[in-house]
Amino acid sequence: MFDLAVLKIMCVLSAVLAVLMARRILKKDIVKTKTSFKMPGHSLIYSDARPKNKKDNVEYGTLLKSESLDIQGKPDFIFESRFMKRIVPVEIKSGSIKDEEEPHFGDLMQLAAYFVIVEEEYGKKAKYGKLIYKDYMFKVYNTAKLRRELAGVLNDMRSMLNGKMIEAEGSFVKCRHCVCKMTVCEYCEK
Ligand code: SF4
Repeated sequence: MFDLAVLKIMCVLSAVLAVLMARRILKKDIVKTKTSFKMPGHSLIYSDARPKNKKDNVEYGTLLKSESLDIQGKPDFIFESRFMKRIVPVEIKSGSIKDEEEPHFGDLMQLAAYFVIVEEEYGKKAKYGKLIYKDYMFKVYNTAKLRRELAGVLNDMRSMLNGKMIEAEGSFVKCRHCVCKMTVCEYCEK
């Protein structure tokens, strides 16, 4: 009798574990959906806008900084989930993204920089952030891969500022919206 009860519990736990693993494996790092400005279950805690009627408990227009990366910036909005107190940086873009499957590379790196900045400013890691274009928006997860990419871009930028020549690496994703493509750049992907 006891063994049967234990067996049932083990079966249920295995099933739950299988579902969780499947969700983890299937989870995409960037998810595109139709644009919506709703943030159910979240409260606004930061805004780069400076409205006439300011709300209590919202920080307006403060320059936020990351000491570790020596960068600073002002996300458009930061929300906090009411239950788990998770923070979500949100950046609004004026253009449309149409049928592109991913955000513009520069916008992605901007959000990655905000992930690091808000973690240092608020003392907790954002699980994801949002890049919202006119027509579609992206839920972007704060992955180690994205942060490594940001660190590489910042390294290259600093090396170039110090006069070092960096061999440009064109790619479809990086080059597709670059103003240098097919004009002054010889590295862009044709
Ligand atoms: S077009 Fe040239 S400058 Fe622009 S992203 Fe591509 S490689 Fe870099």
